[in-house]
Amino acid sequence: MHELSLARNIVAICCEHAAGQPVGRVLVEVGRLSAVTPHALLFCFDAAARNTLLQGARLEIVEVVGRARCCLCGSEFTLTQLGQPCACGSYALDQLAGEELRIRSMELVEAATVSSIPNTSDMESASAVRPGFAETRR
Ligand SMILES: [Zn+2]
Repeated sequence: MHELSLARNIVAICCEHAAGQPVGRVLVEVGRLSAVTPHALLFCFDAAARNTLLQGARLEIVEVVGRARCCLCGSEFTLTQLGQPCACGSYALDQLAGEELRIRSMELVEAATVSSIPNTSDMESASAVRPGFAETRR
């Protein structure tokens, strides 16, 4: 299965960059023309992530539409399938996007813990407000 080897690659690359830290979230770009089924990739990712730093991590997929530039008339257009000619009839195209599979970012579980710190300071300021509230009641 194509998606399973991709998922294993994603997991391997992320594990390498995570340096022993558990990973909470991975964002990947998948081109519409890459023949990767996002649903299958999600399924395989969960399987590939098992017993790794990515266990339980969320995979988010951003789909990238195909884009091409015509070598003849120079116009840029959306490529809905490979082998599609330009409106001028030319098949000589520079494909600009649509076949990528790229890990755009990943988030460590620890980073999510750090971002929850504002909640703690909110609680502190809430208790700091209380004495003032008692004063106005007096
Ligand atoms: Zn053209």
